[in-house]
Formats: sequence, C-alpha cells, structure tokens
Amino acid sequence: MATMKAVVKTKSEPGAELLDVPIPTPGPNEVLVKVLATSICGTDLHIYQWNEWAQKRIKKIPQIMGHELCGQVVDVGANVKHIKKDSIISAETHIACGYCYLCRIGLAHICENVRIFGVDIDGVFAEYAVVPASNAWVIEERIPNDYVSVMEPLGNAIHTVLGGEIAGNTVLITGCGPIGLMSILVCKACGATKIIATEVNEYRLHLAKKLGADIVLNPKQNKIVDSVLEYTNGKGVDVVLEMSGNQSAINEGLKVLRPGGRYSILGIPEKPFRIDLADVVFKYFTIQGINGRLMFSTWYKTTRFIASGRIDLEPIITHRFRLEEFKKGMELMETGNCGKILLYP
Ligand code: NAD
Ligand code: ZN
Repeated sequence: MATMKAVVKTKSEPGAELLDVPIPTPGPNEVLVKVLATSICGTDLHIYQWNEWAQKRIKKIPQIMGHELCGQVVDVGANVKHIKKDSIISAETHIACGYCYLCRIGLAHICENVRIFGVDIDGVFAEYAVVPASNAWVIEERIPNDYVSVMEPLGNAIHTVLGGEIAGNTVLITGCGPIGLMSILVCKACGATKIIATEVNEYRLHLAKKLGADIVLNPKQNKIVDSVLEYTNGKGVDVVLEMSGNQSAINEGLKVLRPGGRYSILGIPEKPFRIDLADVVFKYFTIQGINGRLMFSTWYKTTRFIASGRIDLEPIITHRFRLEEFKKGMELMETGNCGKILLYP
C-alpha cells in the first residue's frame, strides 16, 4: 500500500507525530488532492497543546491534523462530474450533512451534524487528503497557492466584516491574530473610514499598523475605553469586530460601541462570563455571533477580494516551513510572534 507523511495526533496528551500512513482512497463523491500548501490555525494549536476544549471536543484519535488547504486534484470519485483532475482547490472545512433542518433552510454553515477536517475526521497536514466534492472550492482565477490555503480563515474575516454596514463607518477590531489582521484588510477594501485595532502582542500590533489600521492600541499600555472614545470625538465606534475571545476585550468593546451600533463576535471565549445586558438593551445594540463562512456566498466574495487585488495577503503570511517542521510552527504560534504560518508537504 502506498504511504504518505502526515502530522498525526496519536495520543490524548500534548504533541503530535510525523508518521507514514496509507494514502487515502476517495469515495464516489470525493476527490483526492496532493496537498501543495496548508496553514496552521489556532484550532490546530489547541489540539496540539491538548487544552481543555480539545480534550472535550476531539473524539477520534489517531487523527491527521489540519484543515486549511491548497490542493491539486489527483483523483476523482465516480460520481464527481464538476471537478477535473489537476484542478487547484481550497476547501470549506465544515462538512454539512445536507439534510438537517438548518442545512435545508440555507444555514449549512451551522449544520446540526457538521464534521470538520482535523477535528472530527482526518485533516490535511499530510501529503495527500480526501475532500468531499461538495466542499472542494475550485480555483479558476490566478491565485497563488499560499493564498488559496488561507482562504478559509479569510472567509471568517469576510463573513464577520460583511455582517452589516461597513462603508463610511468607524470600526474597532479587538484582537489582531491572523483573522483580525485579515479583517483590517477587508474593512479597508470596503471603505471603513477609521479602523482602530487592539492587540496585546507587539509583533501583531506592528503588523496591524503595517496593514493599514489607522490607530493601534495595546491594552497593556493604553486605556482602551478612554483612547477609543478620544479617537472618536467621544461618540464611540459604529462597529466592533471581536476577534480575540478575550473577556476584557469584549467588555471594552461593549463600552465603546455607539448606541445603535453593531457588535459582531467571531472570537471564542474560553469560558462563560457576564456582560451587562441592560446596557445592550438601552443602547439598542445588535450583537451578532459569527460562525464559519456562508456556503458558499462567502467563498465567492473571498475569491473576488483576492483575485481582484483588492486585498494583499502577503504581509499576513509571515512564516513558511516544511511539513516536517510543524513543531517549529506550533511553537512559534504559541509565542504569538507571527501572522499566518504556512506548511509545505
Ligand atoms: P488568534 O488566537 O491568533 O488571535 C487572537 C488574538 O487576540 C491574539 O493575537 C491575542 O494576542 C489577542 N488578544 C488577547 N487578548 C487581547 C485583548 N485583551 N485585547 C486585544 N487583543 C487580545 O486567533 P485567530 O485565528 O486570529 O482567530 C480569532 C478568534 O476567532 C479566535 O478566538 C478564534 O478561536 C476564533 N475563531 C472563530 C471562528 C468561528 O467560526 N467563529 C473561526 C475561526 C476562529
Ligand atoms: Zn446539516
């Protein structure tokens, strides 16, 4: 049996191993891709570190890690008619069932039976990977492989930024991890007129400035509420995009949102905490949770933002390693002194 190298979560403890495993065979509705590039997401780091969330969430071990992907199709299942061999694909990483209530009312991105690459089923930190044809996103435009790999998190950013009106608005982005950074680019491309970004890590704060945030603030050095109010003539921002999952960042965001404003939350808090709901009511806030990407309208937009050159992802991709060096990538992610990290099988 032909084998491939893959990064496998082998034990219910921190770490992962590079192993030789069988090359998977695509089913009738799947394609097999040669992985050209893959990128590390915070979720992968959590699984690698084996934090509380991962311990509860991960049921299948051993499992190949990773979900962000640029692949070249090398084999197609018997029923797959719309994807040709040699096509370059990215992938929607949430595999929806297609028959549950939510799928059927057009909310496949929050499918009741969702399965996720590298979380519920084998992922893409490998030389080859199998992708359901319905989740393959065929690239017909000229898009560099590295950008194809990061389309999935970029889709999170686009889904969040476009969750409401943005042109001509003042925006606060709390948290400048890769998705917060991408959101700066999307906000700029969409005509936000003042972008304030907060981040505790100086490396990322510097990147935020480089990408075009008008004002960058570090909560360790600045009083966020006072500063944001000062930069908005005491009025507060029209929109807050929450990209940190951090409790104080979330509460500060609520304090500086102007009455009637939009508060879109992508960041995932580690544990439940209190917010002042009376404040939300009296200030007439719209609070919106954002999960995944809309299938597939977000993917069309993501493709167009990149292919049109409206956004340039290059500065966000700060490190590139061989797949074998995945531990280096994970350790770097732990420090936070990076943007997006690419791995090449
Ligand atoms: P990330 O962990 O790399 O970024 C979060 C950033 O927030 C970090 O850079 C961190 O230093 C910063 N931060 C921490 N405390 C802060 C504070 N008090 N003020 C400002 N910044 C602070 O994550 P990412 O990959 O960029 O993703 C962003 C968030 O979205 C994460 O919470 C992630 O779990 C979540 N996420 C959600 C979805 C979804 O579908 N809802 C999908 C992907 C990621
Ligand atoms: Zn479903």
